[in-house]
Amino acid sequence: MSPTVRATNLGFPRIGPHRELKQALESFWAGNSTSDELKLCAAEIRQERWVRQRDLGLDHIPSNDFSLYDHVLDAAMMVGAVPDRYRGVGDDLDAYFAMARGGEVQGRPLLALEMTKWFDTNYHYIVPELTPGQQFSYTGRKTVDEFREAAALGIVTRPVLLGPISFLMLAKQRGDRTTPVAKLAPALVDVYEEVLADLGAAGAQWVQMDEPVLGLDLDVEIIDAFAAAYQRLTRSAPSVRLLVATYFTGLRGNFGLALNLPVAAVHLDLVRDPSQLDIALDRAPERLALSLGVIDGRNVWRADLDAALGRLEHARDRIGADRLLVAPSCSLLHMPLDLEAETCFDPELRQWLAFAVQRIEEVVVLTRGLNDGRNVVAEQLASSSRARSARASSPRIHDRAVQARLSMSGADLESRLGPYADRRKQQAKRLALPPLPTTTIGSFPQTAAVRSLRARHRSGDLDDLSYELAMRELVERVVRFQESVGLDVLVHGEFERNDMVEYFGEQLRGFAVSEQGWVQSYGSRCVKPPMVFGDVSRLQPMTVAVTSYAQSLTKRPVKGMLTGPVTILQWSFVRDDQPRERTCRQIALAIRDEVEDLEAAGIAIIQIDEPALREGLPLRREDWAEYLSWAVAAFRLASSGAADETQIHTHMCYADFQDIMSAIAAFDADVISIETARSQMELLRTFSDYRYPNEIGPGIWDVHSPRVPDVEEIVALLDRALETIPPDQLWVNPDCGLKTRGWDEVERALQNLVAAAHLARKRVAAA
Ligand code: GLN
Ligand code: ZN
Repeated sequence: MSPTVRATNLGFPRIGPHRELKQALESFWAGNSTSDELKLCAAEIRQERWVRQRDLGLDHIPSNDFSLYDHVLDAAMMVGAVPDRYRGVGDDLDAYFAMARGGEVQGRPLLALEMTKWFDTNYHYIVPELTPGQQFSYTGRKTVDEFREAAALGIVTRPVLLGPISFLMLAKQRGDRTTPVAKLAPALVDVYEEVLADLGAAGAQWVQMDEPVLGLDLDVEIIDAFAAAYQRLTRSAPSVRLLVATYFTGLRGNFGLALNLPVAAVHLDLVRDPSQLDIALDRAPERLALSLGVIDGRNVWRADLDAALGRLEHARDRIGADRLLVAPSCSLLHMPLDLEAETCFDPELRQWLAFAVQRIEEVVVLTRGLNDGRNVVAEQLASSSRARSARASSPRIHDRAVQARLSMSGADLESRLGPYADRRKQQAKRLALPPLPTTTIGSFPQTAAVRSLRARHRSGDLDDLSYELAMRELVERVVRFQESVGLDVLVHGEFERNDMVEYFGEQLRGFAVSEQGWVQSYGSRCVKPPMVFGDVSRLQPMTVAVTSYAQSLTKRPVKGMLTGPVTILQWSFVRDDQPRERTCRQIALAIRDEVEDLEAAGIAIIQIDEPALREGLPLRREDWAEYLSWAVAAFRLASSGAADETQIHTHMCYADFQDIMSAIAAFDADVISIETARSQMELLRTFSDYRYPNEIGPGIWDVHSPRVPDVEEIVALLDRALETIPPDQLWVNPDCGLKTRGWDEVERALQNLVAAAHLARKRVAAA
């Protein structure tokens, strides 16, 4: 048999075709089903995924890419990195979920581990926590169990492990002494050796080691640790071929390191960095196979199969078919599952798209083209080319008016009229707020009743008028509630919004929204990112009616709530035929129109949320400045049409802001509310060192914890804040929206928040 190229996949969506995993998890957490029922559901989902991928024609099908909550947490369980405080929680599953979402030991609440964004995606992983002198042991057997489970179906899978160096770099060390990654690596590699031996004994032929940190800037100790770790791993299981997977960025300076690891194959993300192909073909040692990620695992546009095949043929001619694996650029975890599940897309849009299942079809077509010749797949190649050129020339994509406006929108549209000091005076006069004004971040509890209202309206069960009336009632209730609690700046509650990005995606031109395109965000949480296919513009006001209605009910100022251009861009699938910057500016112009209309309707305060600013940062530091410069410009383009007497707020949360202070300051928002509760106001020092000139509302309630802070606690936090922030710059607010909280907690927390603000005001006045 002549050597053949293999069709492979790095990871598959895991929530189930109808979000079965979400339902099973939530039912288990609520105590409505047993752990056996949960496990059964998980096994069914795994089986469906394997069988489906086999039937699609893949040679390498991943296993252990499934997770009940998160694959990084799974890796922590595998190596026994379970902090002591979770050990008394109950059985393994209880401990696992306690680490993921908090729990209880002997009646005392136990906080979850931290959660943070997985590289530049909107997927959140659980941050493993290591102590000085951390020990590791082979504890969780999930990898080999799932390998056997698939083998029993006759499917020999390629297990996926988070590689040891990435695991250590993604973990957080607790305690005053931190142990360098390189020091911890040998003990961790001991465990990985056992795992690989176990997998080898079970019959695994290939194991995929995900080492996405190879795309980051690495210190020399890490580079050495990598080499040492893979020397040992390769030797530990001679029958197993290791594939080291890198993704989300090119290897750049780490090329030498990656290509010289003593492994069987290296995976390259050729979508994010196509220039890697020629370097790899030139420099890969002869024993090394290359897994070429030519199909985009992070976006939804059908591939240009003809071009991709051309590159793969070139690669095959250089290194030979037996050294070639065809793959998506990264795991398909970040893609919606299956285009076939969509019933509402019009035929034109549909033919431009590919979801996870279609991505695998593309991989398989390319592989067949390589193995059996182009003519065998001629039809698929032609259809892909037709789809691409139809998209390129479709009138739905190109809007001359938007393009003309964009080319005329220069730096002159990126500054408020007056400097902050002047705006501040005018706003103070207009708003007449007390010192330390109180407000919230926007959303109020999205109860089952609220969600069912929206669902019934969407399905047509509830007509527009009844829906409108029900929404108005919710808005009125939340306005009255905020007045009665005594908040100074009110919001309308965001009950009409399913999601802060999708809601705008549904209304903007150039966007499409799927019905079933769910992508896991964390645990059981999924989002449906909208898709930007064409030039973006606003058809009509999007938030003016609901905001004005709320304002009509009260004398206190109601804040208009918008999602910022960078966040809308970041949390959508965006077009691949123009730079992200350009798409972002188009979105910014649409938001600018909305700001103008809110202002014209008499709204005095407008908040433009940008929680995704930080996660949009490129993975490599050398690329940051460019991104930040256009991201800041887009925010300013969206916000700076506001008159000086209109107060612009922004909001950011759950990220490391230290690195990007100058960009945050450059937003020139009059007020920023920012999450700090978890770091006990640590962040404020940065603002003060930086001499942040505008007003700041550090979050004084960690809304991701069900704990309600009492008055003294909030006063203490405000005292701490006042050590670094002058009283006339300080706002009092929770650290994020309240949509996931219950009304009972919200009521108590906001009462305490207002009471604490009153106490703090008295102290400030006395001082
Ligand atoms: N205004 C949004 C809300 O309150 C902000 C959400 C966010 O920061 N992610 O829900
Ligand atoms: Zn937030």
